[in-house]
Amino acid sequence: MMSKAIVIGSGFGGLALAIRLQAAGIPTLILEQRDKPGGRAYVYQDQGFTFDAGPTVITDPSAIEELFTLAGKRLEEYVELMPVTPFYRLCWESGKVFNYDNDQAHLEEQIGQFNPADVEGYRRFLSYSQAVFKEGYLKLGTVPFLSFRDMVRAGPQLARLQAWRSVYSMVAKFIEDDHLRQAFSFHSLLVGGNPFATSSIYTLIHALEREWGVWFPRGGTGALVQGMVKLFEDLGGEIELNAEVTQLEAEDNTLKAVKLADGRRIEASAVASNADVVHTYEKLLGHHPVGAKRSTSLKRKRMSNSLFVLYFGLNHHHEQLAHHTVCFGPRYKELIDDIFNSDALAEDFSLYLHAPCVTDPSLAPPGCGSYYVLAPVPHLGTADLDWEVEGPRLRERIFDYLEAHYMPGLREQLVTHRMFTPFDFRDQLGAHQGSAFSIEPILTQSAWFRPHNRDSRIANLYLVGAGTHPGAGVPGVIGSAKATAGLMVEQLAP
Ligand SMILES: Cc1cc2nc3c(=O)[nH]c(=O)nc-3n(C[C@H](O)[C@H](O)[C@H](O)COP(=O)(O)OP(=O)(O)OC[C@H]3O[C@@H](n4cnc5c(N)ncnc54)[C@H](O)[C@@H]3O)c2cc1C
Repeated sequence: MMSKAIVIGSGFGGLALAIRLQAAGIPTLILEQRDKPGGRAYVYQDQGFTFDAGPTVITDPSAIEELFTLAGKRLEEYVELMPVTPFYRLCWESGKVFNYDNDQAHLEEQIGQFNPADVEGYRRFLSYSQAVFKEGYLKLGTVPFLSFRDMVRAGPQLARLQAWRSVYSMVAKFIEDDHLRQAFSFHSLLVGGNPFATSSIYTLIHALEREWGVWFPRGGTGALVQGMVKLFEDLGGEIELNAEVTQLEAEDNTLKAVKLADGRRIEASAVASNADVVHTYEKLLGHHPVGAKRSTSLKRKRMSNSLFVLYFGLNHHHEQLAHHTVCFGPRYKELIDDIFNSDALAEDFSLYLHAPCVTDPSLAPPGCGSYYVLAPVPHLGTADLDWEVEGPRLRERIFDYLEAHYMPGLREQLVTHRMFTPFDFRDQLGAHQGSAFSIEPILTQSAWFRPHNRDSRIANLYLVGAGTHPGAGVPGVIGSAKATAGLMVEQLAP
Protein backbone atom coordinates (compact mmCIF):
# COMPACT_ATOMS: atom_id res chain seq x y z
CA MET A 1 0.00 0.00 0.00
CA MET A 2 1.23 3.47 -0.74
CA SER A 3 1.83 5.58 2.38
CA LYS A 4 0.09 8.86 2.02
CA ALA A 5 2.64 10.84 4.01
CA ILE A 6 6.29 10.31 4.82
CA VAL A 7 8.08 12.20 7.58
CA ILE A 8 11.88 12.12 7.32
CA GLY A 9 13.32 12.22 10.84
CA SER A 10 11.95 11.60 14.32
CA GLY A 11 12.96 14.74 16.22
CA PHE A 12 10.26 16.35 18.35
CA GLY A 13 9.05 18.24 15.27
CA GLY A 14 8.83 15.11 13.11
CA LEU A 15 7.07 13.11 15.82
CA ALA A 16 4.56 15.87 16.59
CA LEU A 17 3.75 16.26 12.90
CA ALA A 18 3.37 12.52 12.35
CA ILE A 19 0.99 12.29 15.33
CA ARG A 20 -1.13 15.13 13.95
CA LEU A 21 -1.29 13.55 10.47
CA GLN A 22 -2.08 10.09 11.75
CA ALA A 23 -4.74 11.51 14.09
CA ALA A 24 -6.30 13.24 11.07
CA GLY A 25 -6.63 9.87 9.35
CA ILE A 26 -3.62 10.22 7.04
CA PRO A 27 -1.49 7.03 7.02
CA THR A 28 1.99 8.23 7.97
CA LEU A 29 5.42 6.61 7.89
CA ILE A 30 8.40 8.04 9.80
CA LEU A 31 11.84 7.19 8.41
CA GLU A 32 14.64 7.79 10.91
CA GLN A 33 18.29 7.24 10.01
CA ARG A 34 19.52 6.56 13.56
CA ASP A 35 18.91 3.48 15.69
CA LYS A 36 16.70 5.37 18.15
CA PRO A 37 14.05 8.07 17.75
CA GLY A 38 14.27 11.60 19.20
CA GLY A 39 16.86 13.37 17.05
CA ARG A 40 18.62 15.85 19.31
CA ALA A 41 16.65 14.21 22.13
CA TYR A 42 18.55 10.92 21.72
CA VAL A 43 19.32 8.81 24.81
CA TYR A 44 22.56 7.09 25.86
CA GLN A 45 22.47 4.20 28.31
CA ASP A 46 25.74 3.24 29.93
CA GLN A 47 26.50 1.13 33.04
CA GLY A 48 23.13 1.89 34.62
CA PHE A 49 23.29 5.62 33.81
CA THR A 50 20.73 7.24 31.52
CA PHE A 51 21.83 10.36 29.67
CA ASP A 52 19.38 12.53 27.78
CA ALA A 53 21.49 13.86 24.93
CA GLY A 54 19.68 17.13 24.26
CA PRO A 55 16.63 19.00 25.58
CA THR A 56 16.14 18.90 29.33
CA VAL A 57 14.15 22.05 30.04
CA ILE A 58 10.61 21.14 29.01
CA THR A 59 8.36 24.18 28.75
CA ASP A 60 4.82 24.70 27.43
CA PRO A 61 3.40 21.31 28.44
CA SER A 62 0.08 22.47 26.95
CA ALA A 63 1.50 22.06 23.41
CA ILE A 64 2.51 18.48 24.26
CA GLU A 65 -0.83 17.76 25.94
CA GLU A 66 -2.64 18.99 22.82
CA LEU A 67 -1.05 16.19 20.77
CA PHE A 68 -2.46 13.55 23.09
CA THR A 69 -5.86 15.24 23.37
CA LEU A 70 -6.38 15.49 19.64
CA ALA A 71 -5.62 11.79 19.44
CA GLY A 72 -8.32 11.14 22.04
CA LYS A 73 -5.79 10.14 24.72
CA ARG A 74 -4.45 11.61 27.92
CA LEU A 75 -0.80 12.63 28.32
CA GLU A 76 -0.68 11.10 31.83
CA GLU A 77 -1.37 7.65 30.36
CA TYR A 78 1.91 7.90 28.45
CA VAL A 79 4.32 10.02 30.47
CA GLU A 80 4.45 11.89 33.75
CA LEU A 81 5.70 15.47 33.71
CA MET A 82 7.17 16.65 37.01
CA PRO A 83 7.54 20.32 37.95
CA VAL A 84 11.12 21.57 38.44
CA THR A 85 11.94 24.21 41.06
CA PRO A 86 13.94 26.37 40.83
CA PHE A 87 13.60 26.62 37.07
CA TYR A 88 17.32 27.30 36.96
CA ARG A 89 20.00 28.23 39.46
CA LEU A 90 22.21 30.95 38.00
CA CYS A 91 25.72 31.18 39.45
CA TRP A 92 28.57 33.61 38.92
CA GLU A 93 32.26 33.26 39.74
CA SER A 94 31.88 36.08 42.31
CA GLY A 95 29.79 33.64 44.36
CA LYS A 96 26.51 35.40 43.61
CA VAL A 97 23.55 33.09 43.09
CA PHE A 98 20.05 33.68 41.69
CA ASN A 99 17.41 30.99 42.11
CA TYR A 100 15.09 31.71 39.24
CA ASP A 101 11.65 30.27 39.99
CA ASN A 102 7.96 31.06 39.55
CA ASP A 103 7.37 32.84 42.86
CA GLN A 104 7.00 36.58 42.26
CA ALA A 105 7.73 37.55 45.88
CA HIS A 106 10.81 35.34 46.04
CA LEU A 107 12.05 36.68 42.68
CA GLU A 108 11.57 40.28 43.78
CA GLU A 109 13.31 39.65 47.10
CA GLN A 110 16.34 38.24 45.28
CA ILE A 111 16.32 41.00 42.65
CA GLY A 112 16.20 43.57 45.47
CA GLN A 113 19.36 42.07 46.93
CA PHE A 114 21.17 42.58 43.62
CA ASN A 115 19.78 46.07 43.06
CA PRO A 116 16.64 47.53 44.74
CA ALA A 117 15.83 49.74 41.73
CA ASP A 118 15.52 46.67 39.52
CA VAL A 119 12.43 45.31 41.32
CA GLU A 120 10.26 47.86 39.55
CA GLY A 121 12.23 47.41 36.33
CA TYR A 122 11.68 43.66 36.46
CA ARG A 123 7.91 44.15 36.80
CA ARG A 124 7.94 46.28 33.66
CA PHE A 125 10.15 43.77 31.86
CA LEU A 126 7.77 40.95 32.80
CA SER A 127 4.78 42.81 31.41
CA TYR A 128 6.68 43.58 28.18
CA SER A 129 7.66 39.93 27.90
CA GLN A 130 4.02 38.88 28.47
CA ALA A 131 2.86 41.17 25.65
CA VAL A 132 5.44 39.67 23.27
CA PHE A 133 4.44 36.18 24.38
CA LYS A 134 0.79 36.87 23.42
CA GLU A 135 1.65 38.29 20.00
CA GLY A 136 4.72 36.26 19.09
CA TYR A 137 3.93 32.86 20.59
CA LEU A 138 0.20 32.49 21.10
CA LYS A 139 -0.83 34.26 17.88
CA LEU A 140 2.04 33.73 15.42
CA GLY A 141 3.95 30.72 16.73
CA THR A 142 1.85 28.06 15.04
CA VAL A 143 0.71 29.71 11.81
CA PRO A 144 2.74 29.26 8.64
CA PHE A 145 4.23 32.37 7.02
CA LEU A 146 3.86 31.37 3.37
CA SER A 147 3.53 34.74 1.70
CA PHE A 148 5.10 38.11 2.27
CA ARG A 149 1.57 39.40 2.94
CA ASP A 150 1.53 37.32 6.15
CA MET A 151 4.67 39.14 7.21
CA VAL A 152 3.29 42.56 6.36
CA ARG A 153 0.18 41.78 8.37
CA ALA A 154 2.33 40.95 11.43
CA GLY A 155 4.42 44.09 10.85
CA PRO A 156 2.56 46.61 13.02
CA GLN A 157 2.64 44.35 16.09
CA LEU A 158 6.32 43.61 15.57
CA ALA A 159 7.02 47.32 15.25
CA ARG A 160 5.01 48.16 18.36
CA LEU A 161 6.97 45.57 20.34
CA GLN A 162 10.23 46.98 18.98
CA ALA A 163 11.19 43.64 17.47
CA TRP A 164 14.19 45.24 15.75
CA ARG A 165 15.91 45.65 19.12
CA SER A 166 18.00 42.83 20.53
CA VAL A 167 17.01 40.75 23.55
CA TYR A 168 19.84 42.24 25.58
CA SER A 169 19.14 45.86 24.68
CA MET A 170 15.50 45.37 25.64
CA VAL A 171 16.39 43.78 28.99
CA ALA A 172 18.93 46.54 29.62
CA LYS A 173 16.20 49.13 29.07
CA PHE A 174 14.38 47.81 32.14
CA ILE A 175 17.14 46.38 34.32
CA GLU A 176 20.40 48.00 35.50
CA ASP A 177 22.35 45.35 37.36
CA ASP A 178 24.85 43.51 35.22
CA HIS A 179 24.13 40.07 36.74
CA LEU A 180 20.39 40.53 36.35
CA ARG A 181 20.82 41.66 32.75
CA GLN A 182 22.54 38.33 32.13
CA ALA A 183 19.90 36.43 34.11
CA PHE A 184 17.06 37.77 31.96
CA SER A 185 18.79 37.76 28.58
CA PHE A 186 20.60 34.40 28.34
CA HIS A 187 17.39 32.52 27.46
CA SER A 188 17.65 33.04 23.71
CA LEU A 189 20.84 30.96 23.83
CA LEU A 190 18.62 27.97 24.67
CA VAL A 191 17.31 28.15 21.11
CA GLY A 192 20.54 29.22 19.42
CA GLY A 193 19.93 32.97 19.53
CA ASN A 194 22.67 35.47 20.37
CA PRO A 195 21.06 37.79 22.99
CA PHE A 196 22.93 40.73 21.44
CA ALA A 197 21.65 40.05 17.91
CA THR A 198 18.41 38.08 18.23
CA SER A 199 15.11 39.94 18.08
CA SER A 200 13.65 41.06 21.41
CA ILE A 201 10.69 38.83 20.46
CA TYR A 202 12.71 36.07 22.14
CA THR A 203 12.20 37.70 25.54
CA LEU A 204 8.87 35.84 25.32
CA ILE A 205 10.66 32.76 26.66
CA HIS A 206 10.65 34.39 30.09
CA ALA A 207 6.86 34.91 30.04
CA LEU A 208 6.37 31.40 28.64
CA GLU A 209 8.29 29.88 31.56
CA ARG A 210 6.41 32.04 34.07
CA GLU A 211 3.08 31.07 32.47
CA TRP A 212 3.47 27.29 32.34
CA GLY A 213 6.56 26.44 34.42
CA VAL A 214 9.53 24.18 33.72
CA TRP A 215 8.95 20.43 33.64
CA PHE A 216 10.89 17.20 33.45
CA PRO A 217 9.48 13.84 32.32
CA ARG A 218 9.84 10.95 34.77
CA GLY A 219 12.46 8.71 33.19
CA GLY A 220 14.03 11.69 31.39
CA THR A 221 13.26 13.49 28.14
CA GLY A 222 13.70 10.12 26.43
CA ALA A 223 10.51 8.96 28.19
CA LEU A 224 8.62 11.78 26.48
CA VAL A 225 10.05 10.70 23.12
CA GLN A 226 8.97 7.11 23.86
CA GLY A 227 5.52 8.33 24.89
CA MET A 228 5.11 10.21 21.62
CA VAL A 229 6.32 7.24 19.56
CA LYS A 230 3.85 5.00 21.40
CA LEU A 231 1.01 7.46 20.82
CA PHE A 232 1.88 7.54 17.11
CA GLU A 233 1.95 3.74 16.92
CA ASP A 234 -1.28 3.40 18.93
CA LEU A 235 -2.89 5.58 16.27
CA GLY A 236 -1.70 3.13 13.62
CA GLY A 237 1.39 5.05 12.50
CA GLU A 238 4.55 3.29 11.41
CA ILE A 239 8.12 4.22 12.30
CA GLU A 240 11.25 2.68 10.79
CA LEU A 241 14.64 3.16 12.44
CA ASN A 242 18.01 2.74 10.68
CA ALA A 243 16.23 4.04 7.59
CA GLU A 244 18.30 6.78 5.99
CA VAL A 245 16.66 8.72 3.17
CA THR A 246 19.19 9.56 0.45
CA GLN A 247 17.05 11.20 -2.21
CA LEU A 248 13.71 12.81 -2.90
CA GLU A 249 12.44 11.67 -6.28
CA ALA A 250 10.57 14.36 -8.20
CA GLU A 251 8.70 14.49 -11.48
CA ASP A 252 8.67 18.12 -12.58
CA ASN A 253 7.63 19.96 -9.43
CA THR A 254 5.94 17.08 -7.64
CA LEU A 255 7.59 14.58 -5.30
CA LYS A 256 6.81 10.99 -6.13
CA ALA A 257 8.89 8.90 -3.75
CA VAL A 258 11.84 8.79 -1.38
CA LYS A 259 14.91 6.62 -1.92
CA LEU A 260 16.67 4.96 0.98
CA ALA A 261 20.31 4.06 1.58
CA ASP A 262 19.35 0.37 1.56
CA GLY A 263 18.15 0.73 -2.05
CA ARG A 264 14.42 0.84 -1.36
CA ARG A 265 12.07 3.31 -2.98
CA ILE A 266 8.89 4.30 -1.14
CA GLU A 267 6.14 6.27 -2.84
CA ALA A 268 4.25 9.01 -1.07
CA SER A 269 1.64 11.66 -1.73
CA ALA A 270 3.53 14.15 0.39
CA VAL A 271 6.88 14.29 2.19
CA ALA A 272 7.77 16.36 5.22
CA SER A 273 11.43 16.72 6.10
CA ASN A 274 12.43 17.04 9.74
CA ALA A 275 16.07 16.73 8.67
CA ASP A 276 18.38 19.75 8.60
CA VAL A 277 17.08 22.19 5.95
CA VAL A 278 20.38 22.53 4.09
CA HIS A 279 20.75 18.73 4.11
CA THR A 280 17.20 18.44 2.75
CA TYR A 281 17.68 20.77 -0.19
CA GLU A 282 21.33 20.06 -0.94
CA LYS A 283 21.71 16.33 -0.32
CA LEU A 284 18.19 15.02 -0.82
CA LEU A 285 17.00 17.37 -3.58
CA GLY A 286 20.26 18.75 -5.01
CA HIS A 287 19.62 17.02 -8.36
CA HIS A 288 16.49 19.16 -8.88
CA PRO A 289 16.71 22.86 -9.86
CA VAL A 290 14.61 23.89 -6.83
CA GLY A 291 16.89 21.97 -4.47
CA ALA A 292 20.03 23.42 -6.07
CA LYS A 293 18.69 26.97 -5.91
CA ARG A 294 17.44 26.74 -2.33
CA SER A 295 20.59 25.14 -0.97
CA THR A 296 22.72 27.90 -2.50
CA SER A 297 20.63 30.60 -0.87
CA LEU A 298 20.32 28.72 2.44
CA LYS A 299 24.10 28.39 2.64
CA ARG A 300 24.32 32.19 2.62
CA LYS A 301 22.26 32.41 5.80
CA ARG A 302 23.78 32.59 9.27
CA MET A 303 23.58 29.34 11.21
CA SER A 304 23.23 29.14 14.99
CA ASN A 305 26.18 28.24 17.15
CA SER A 306 27.19 24.69 17.94
CA LEU A 307 27.58 23.03 21.34
CA PHE A 308 30.18 20.91 23.08
CA VAL A 309 28.32 18.43 25.30
CA LEU A 310 29.93 16.18 27.91
CA TYR A 311 27.85 13.39 29.46
CA PHE A 312 29.24 11.83 32.63
CA GLY A 313 28.24 9.41 35.36
CA LEU A 314 29.59 9.67 38.90
CA ASN A 315 29.46 7.22 41.81
CA HIS A 316 28.27 10.15 43.92
CA HIS A 317 25.06 12.20 43.98
CA HIS A 318 25.91 15.91 44.32
CA GLU A 319 22.89 16.97 46.33
CA GLN A 320 24.11 20.57 46.59
CA LEU A 321 23.23 21.08 42.92
CA ALA A 322 19.93 22.23 41.44
CA HIS A 323 18.47 20.25 38.51
CA HIS A 324 19.48 23.02 36.07
CA THR A 325 22.46 25.29 36.74
CA VAL A 326 23.84 28.02 34.53
CA CYS A 327 27.47 28.65 35.42
CA PHE A 328 28.35 32.11 34.09
CA GLY A 329 32.05 32.52 33.33
CA PRO A 330 34.07 35.73 33.73
CA ARG A 331 32.88 37.34 30.47
CA TYR A 332 29.38 37.66 29.03
CA LYS A 333 29.08 39.87 25.93
CA GLU A 334 32.66 39.22 24.85
CA LEU A 335 32.30 35.45 25.22
CA ILE A 336 29.03 35.42 23.26
CA ASP A 337 30.71 37.49 20.58
CA ASP A 338 33.50 34.90 20.39
CA ILE A 339 30.97 32.03 20.14
CA PHE A 340 29.08 33.63 17.26
CA ASN A 341 31.89 35.37 15.40
CA SER A 342 35.39 34.22 16.32
CA ASP A 343 37.44 31.67 14.40
CA ALA A 344 39.07 30.40 17.60
CA LEU A 345 37.87 28.76 20.79
CA ALA A 346 37.74 31.17 23.76
CA GLU A 347 39.96 30.55 26.79
CA ASP A 348 36.95 30.88 29.11
CA PHE A 349 33.45 29.43 28.93
CA SER A 350 29.97 29.64 30.39
CA LEU A 351 28.30 26.31 31.10
CA TYR A 352 24.90 24.73 31.52
CA LEU A 353 25.01 21.83 34.00
CA HIS A 354 22.27 19.20 34.00
CA ALA A 355 21.76 17.14 37.17
CA PRO A 356 18.52 15.21 36.47
CA CYS A 357 18.86 12.85 39.45
CA VAL A 358 17.81 15.82 41.62
CA THR A 359 14.32 15.28 40.17
CA ASP A 360 14.52 11.62 39.16
CA PRO A 361 17.10 9.40 40.94
CA SER A 362 16.16 6.45 38.69
CA LEU A 363 18.43 7.88 35.97
CA ALA A 364 21.52 6.52 37.76
CA PRO A 365 22.35 3.50 39.94
CA PRO A 366 21.55 3.99 43.68
CA GLY A 367 23.72 6.70 45.28
CA CYS A 368 25.14 7.73 41.89
CA GLY A 369 24.43 10.68 39.64
CA SER A 370 24.15 11.13 35.88
CA TYR A 371 25.07 14.56 34.53
CA TYR A 372 25.74 16.52 31.44
CA VAL A 373 27.46 19.81 30.95
CA LEU A 374 27.44 21.87 27.79
CA ALA A 375 29.36 24.86 26.52
CA PRO A 376 28.15 26.89 23.52
CA VAL A 377 30.95 26.92 20.92
CA PRO A 378 31.30 28.32 17.38
CA HIS A 379 29.97 26.20 14.53
CA LEU A 380 32.37 24.83 11.93
CA GLY A 381 31.71 27.66 9.48
CA THR A 382 32.75 30.23 12.09
CA ALA A 383 35.68 28.31 13.59
CA ASP A 384 37.11 25.51 11.49
CA LEU A 385 38.46 23.58 14.48
CA ASP A 386 39.66 19.99 14.65
CA TRP A 387 37.36 18.64 17.34
CA GLU A 388 39.32 15.37 17.49
CA VAL A 389 41.99 17.50 19.16
CA GLU A 390 39.94 20.31 20.73
CA GLY A 391 37.30 17.99 22.20
CA PRO A 392 39.49 16.09 24.67
CA ARG A 393 41.23 19.36 25.64
CA LEU A 394 37.99 21.15 26.34
CA ARG A 395 36.70 18.12 28.24
CA GLU A 396 39.67 18.26 30.62
CA ARG A 397 39.32 22.02 31.12
CA ILE A 398 35.62 21.67 31.90
CA PHE A 399 36.14 18.77 34.31
CA ASP A 400 38.81 20.84 36.14
CA TYR A 401 36.48 23.82 36.30
CA LEU A 402 33.49 21.84 37.58
CA GLU A 403 35.61 20.10 40.19
CA ALA A 404 37.00 23.43 41.43
CA HIS A 405 33.73 25.37 41.46
CA TYR A 406 30.71 23.06 41.64
CA MET A 407 31.44 19.36 42.10
CA PRO A 408 34.27 18.62 44.54
CA GLY A 409 35.80 15.17 44.05
CA LEU A 410 34.46 14.83 40.49
CA ARG A 411 37.58 13.21 39.03
CA GLU A 412 37.69 10.47 41.66
CA GLN A 413 33.97 9.83 41.32
CA LEU A 414 34.02 9.48 37.53
CA VAL A 415 32.58 6.16 36.28
CA THR A 416 31.89 6.93 32.65
CA HIS A 417 31.90 9.82 30.18
CA ARG A 418 31.35 10.61 26.52
CA MET A 419 31.25 13.77 24.46
CA PHE A 420 29.31 15.18 21.52
CA THR A 421 31.14 17.83 19.47
CA PRO A 422 30.30 19.99 16.42
CA PHE A 423 31.67 17.09 14.33
CA ASP A 424 28.92 14.86 15.76
CA PHE A 425 26.22 17.43 15.03
CA ARG A 426 27.49 17.43 11.46
CA ASP A 427 28.10 13.69 11.03
CA GLN A 428 25.42 12.06 13.17
CA LEU A 429 22.59 14.55 12.65
CA GLY A 430 23.48 15.94 9.22
CA ALA A 431 23.55 19.46 10.66
CA HIS A 432 24.97 22.08 8.30
CA GLN A 433 28.24 23.44 9.75
CA GLY A 434 27.53 21.37 12.87
CA SER A 435 24.97 23.90 14.07
CA ALA A 436 23.03 22.80 17.15
CA PHE A 437 19.90 24.84 16.39
CA SER A 438 19.81 25.27 12.57
CA ILE A 439 19.32 28.73 11.06
CA GLU A 440 20.13 31.56 13.49
CA PRO A 441 16.93 33.20 14.77
CA ILE A 442 17.66 36.80 13.86
CA LEU A 443 14.77 38.99 12.65
CA THR A 444 15.87 38.84 9.01
CA GLN A 445 15.83 35.02 9.19
CA SER A 446 12.53 34.65 11.07
CA ALA A 447 8.88 34.10 10.13
CA TRP A 448 8.49 34.61 6.35
CA PHE A 449 12.28 34.99 6.03
CA ARG A 450 12.76 31.46 7.38
CA PRO A 451 12.43 28.41 5.07
CA HIS A 452 8.67 27.98 4.76
CA ASN A 453 6.63 25.14 6.24
CA ARG A 454 5.67 24.26 2.64
CA ASP A 455 8.00 24.72 -0.29
CA SER A 456 6.63 27.40 -2.61
CA ARG A 457 7.55 25.50 -5.80
CA ILE A 458 7.28 21.84 -4.86
CA ALA A 459 3.78 21.79 -3.49
CA ASN A 460 3.96 18.40 -1.75
CA LEU A 461 7.29 19.06 0.03
CA TYR A 462 6.96 20.28 3.60
CA LEU A 463 9.41 21.19 6.33
CA VAL A 464 9.07 20.69 10.07
CA GLY A 465 11.51 21.31 12.92
CA ALA A 466 14.11 23.85 13.93
CA GLY A 467 14.92 25.12 10.41
CA THR A 468 11.41 26.27 9.56
CA HIS A 469 8.92 28.63 11.26
CA PRO A 470 8.86 29.38 14.15
CA GLY A 471 12.25 27.81 14.97
CA ALA A 472 14.31 25.74 17.43
CA GLY A 473 13.49 24.57 20.95
CA VAL A 474 10.93 21.94 21.89
CA PRO A 475 7.96 24.36 21.96
CA GLY A 476 9.20 25.87 18.69
CA VAL A 477 9.42 22.62 16.75
CA ILE A 478 6.13 21.35 18.20
CA GLY A 479 4.62 24.66 17.04
CA SER A 480 6.15 24.14 13.60
CA ALA A 481 4.44 20.74 13.45
CA LYS A 482 1.08 22.42 14.04
CA ALA A 483 1.71 24.95 11.28
CA THR A 484 2.89 22.26 8.84
CA ALA A 485 0.16 19.77 9.75
CA GLY A 486 -2.53 22.35 8.97
CA LEU A 487 -1.19 22.66 5.43
CA MET A 488 -0.71 18.93 4.91
CA VAL A 489 -4.13 17.99 6.20
CA GLU A 490 -5.62 20.51 3.77
CA GLN A 491 -3.85 18.71 0.92
CA LEU A 492 -4.24 15.11 2.05
CA ALA A 493 -7.28 14.73 4.30
CA PRO A 494 -9.30 11.67 3.30
C1 LIG B 1 22.34 19.69 23.72
C2 LIG B 1 21.04 20.37 23.42
C3 LIG B 1 20.25 20.82 24.47
C4 LIG B 1 19.01 21.43 24.22
N1 LIG B 1 18.23 21.81 25.28
C5 LIG B 1 16.97 22.25 25.05
C6 LIG B 1 16.09 22.46 26.14
O1 LIG B 1 16.45 22.23 27.30
N2 LIG B 1 14.81 22.87 25.86
C7 LIG B 1 14.39 23.07 24.58
O2 LIG B 1 13.21 23.43 24.39
N3 LIG B 1 15.21 22.89 23.52
C8 LIG B 1 16.49 22.48 23.73
N4 LIG B 1 17.32 22.24 22.67
C9 LIG B 1 16.83 22.48 21.30
C10 LIG B 1 15.93 21.33 20.83
O3 LIG B 1 16.44 20.13 21.29
C11 LIG B 1 15.87 21.26 19.31
O4 LIG B 1 15.60 22.53 18.74
C12 LIG B 1 14.77 20.28 18.85
O5 LIG B 1 14.79 19.10 19.60
C13 LIG B 1 14.99 19.97 17.38
O6 LIG B 1 13.95 19.15 16.93
P1 LIG B 1 13.69 18.91 15.39
O7 LIG B 1 12.26 18.53 15.26
O8 LIG B 1 14.16 20.09 14.60
O9 LIG B 1 14.52 17.62 15.00
P2 LIG B 1 15.96 17.02 15.34
O10 LIG B 1 16.03 16.74 16.79
O11 LIG B 1 17.01 17.84 14.73
O12 LIG B 1 15.83 15.61 14.61
C14 LIG B 1 15.97 15.46 13.22
C15 LIG B 1 16.02 13.98 12.92
O13 LIG B 1 16.12 13.76 11.52
C16 LIG B 1 16.93 12.64 11.31
N5 LIG B 1 17.44 12.69 9.94
C17 LIG B 1 18.25 13.65 9.40
N6 LIG B 1 18.53 13.35 8.12
C18 LIG B 1 17.87 12.19 7.83
C19 LIG B 1 17.78 11.38 6.66
N7 LIG B 1 18.40 11.72 5.52
N8 LIG B 1 17.03 10.25 6.71
C20 LIG B 1 16.39 9.91 7.85
N9 LIG B 1 16.46 10.64 9.00
C21 LIG B 1 17.19 11.77 8.98
C22 LIG B 1 18.02 12.81 12.34
O14 LIG B 1 18.71 11.60 12.57
C23 LIG B 1 17.21 13.27 13.54
O15 LIG B 1 16.77 12.18 14.30
C24 LIG B 1 18.58 21.63 22.89
C25 LIG B 1 19.39 21.21 21.82
C26 LIG B 1 20.59 20.58 22.08
C27 LIG B 1 21.43 20.12 20.93
